[in-house]
Amino acid sequence: MNNKSSRDTLKVATEKRILNEFENKGVNEERMDKVVEAKKGRVGSSHSAMQFDCECDNADCQEIISISTEEYQRVHRESNYFVVIPSHIHLDIEKIIASFSNYVLVEKLIIRPSIL
Ligand SMILES: [Zn+2]
Repeated sequence: MNNKSSRDTLKVATEKRILNEFENKGVNEERMDKVVEAKKGRVGSSHSAMQFDCECDNADCQEIISISTEEYQRVHRESNYFVVIPSHIHLDIEKIIASFSNYVLVEKLIIRPSIL
């Protein structure tokens, strides 16, 4: 009976979750840019491991993933790819691209929320 409005509610809830993920990703990318900038001009400096926030849909998630800046840049070449810890995968809004020992690379099935 009330199918349409409950579907809309679900859609908004899903978009909020995805918004959180884009926000986390933005924080990580800013952080990485600073590190890459700081390394510029240094001869022989190698990529070092950085602490990135888990990019799952939970705004309160405090989980940290350790990835090298080089690896992070590589996995983020696709704008709808996110890194999350293995227990924070949500297969209703994302699919697994690759699994690593300390994180999973996922692709968002919904590219970008319309409310952005
Ligand atoms: Zn998380």
